[in-house]
Amino acid sequence: MTRVAVVTGGTRGIGAAISIALKESGCKVAAVYAGNDEKAKAFEAETGIAVFKWDVSDYQACVDGIAGIEQALGPVDILVNNAGITRDAMFHKMTPAHWNEVIGTNLTGLYNMTHPVWSGMRDRGFGRVINISSINGQKGQMGQVNYSASKAGDLGFTKALAQEGAAKGITVNAICPGYIATEMVRAIPEKVLNERILPQIPVGRLGEPEEIARCVVFLASDDAGFITGSTLSANGGQFFV
Ligand code: NDP
Repeated sequence: MTRVAVVTGGTRGIGAAISIALKESGCKVAAVYAGNDEKAKAFEAETGIAVFKWDVSDYQACVDGIAGIEQALGPVDILVNNAGITRDAMFHKMTPAHWNEVIGTNLTGLYNMTHPVWSGMRDRGFGRVINISSINGQKGQMGQVNYSASKAGDLGFTKALAQEGAAKGITVNAICPGYIATEMVRAIPEKVLNERILPQIPVGRLGEPEEIARCVVFLASDDAGFITGSTLSANGGQFFV
């Protein structure tokens, strides 16, 4: 059976790897992005994966966007809430805009995207919701009070919703990546990466986006039907819970 998967932030970084891996696993995939048209169009041309543009922090945009995807591809079976942003600042310098933008995308975005697909998943008796949280939502990170709070919120969302979906054939899980080699992390100065970050990672390297993508493919599969409400840490041994 061909399943329909939606991946937010699915056109670059970890999300692009997830979109590609889900397509390779046999799904019809829609990748949602926010504004980087050039990158999204190049991704669409290269992979054949349909791209859709809207802001996940806008509820009505999500309702309309999901309706468009369902019309084009069919009912959504798998939702990967991957879109995320950072607006880092020490707390004493953190503005309401820093706070609201990060919470709006990283946490409210999960409500906005999941709510429009939830009833359909319940009616059909199958669904997979996979939320990309972060190691920093588990342990907290200075300079990222907003981001850490949003990603910790994603874990509470996951655990509560999993209980609601369990009897309806819907699983809800979270993945907490550590440092993954994306543009976000490649922007860190080499000296900081080599002297401060890599020594914190027991496996001695950054993770690859494809390593997170393979976790998603597993959690989205029928084989993972007994796993729900869980948090999968993929961080090279940097942090245990
Ligand atoms: P990138 O910055 O490389 O990509 C972010 C993607 O999200 C882009 O496609 C972007 O679209 C999209 N996006 C951002 N805001 C919105 C929005 N409001 N509405 C719709 N789409 C949006 O991110 P990464 O690949 O590095 O990270 C992916 C996820 O993994 C994030 O949730 C991040 O917090 C998490 N994570 C990343 C880690 C890392 O080391 N990289 C570590 C731990 C967690 P556009 O291209 O149009 O801007």
